[in-house]
Amino acid sequence: MNIVFIAPPAAGKGAQSGMISKEYNIPHVSIGDLLRNVDDDVIRKQLSLGEFVDNDVIEKLLTERLSKDDCKNGYVLDGFPRNNSQIEIYERIKNISNNKNNVVIVLDIPREVGERRICGRFVCPKCGSVYNELISESKPKVDGICDKCGKNLAKRKDDNKETYDKRYDTYLKETAPLIDYFNKNGTVYHIDSSKSVLDTFNDISKVIGGFNDRY
Ligand code: AMP
Repeated sequence: MNIVFIAPPAAGKGAQSGMISKEYNIPHVSIGDLLRNVDDDVIRKQLSLGEFVDNDVIEKLLTERLSKDDCKNGYVLDGFPRNNSQIEIYERIKNISNNKNNVVIVLDIPREVGERRICGRFVCPKCGSVYNELISESKPKVDGICDKCGKNLAKRKDDNKETYDKRYDTYLKETAPLIDYFNKNGTVYHIDSSKSVLDTFNDISKVIGGFNDRY
């Protein structure tokens, strides 16, 4: 199964993608993470302002990543497609390494809930694990330190209110309309992601099936 997340900022798509990846043993492909690893000043600036990076960069990065062997049994795609012009790229690359079913999961979350979440988010610069100091079940065991690899946690440059507002407006204007396209062309599941990470994950598990209650 290939899973695509459509979600506003701070809806938890990174955390949910990671959990699905672990449960199904399929890779978590995050275009945001791929972009953060590119050594380019223009891209770094676009990321810090929450602006979309050019489609040719996005297509190149995703074509390379989705062509890798570990995507043969499916993948979780996080952060793409994000606007109408990326649908065409998505259709070109979605089955580049397999012929699995493509399932779209939409995470629904009110704007204010997302805004509160963004203020507490910390990320591990080494392994990419995400924590939240304002949400008890998402706190690291030791303040400021990654549970998994012991590195100091960092705040993402784009995790501030101004950038959040801009990204949420962009989501409503450019990304949310894609849901109509997917409704007409495949399977779309809506999940309420204002619940806790675990409850949201359980709801996702119910719709995609085959899970146990390990989490
Ligand atoms: P994310 O990690 O998904 O929250 O994305 C972080 C940032 O990466 C966004 O604010 C954009 O600047 C950039 N970005 C992520 N996905 C895309 C995309 N599909 N197209 C263009 N830029 C993107």
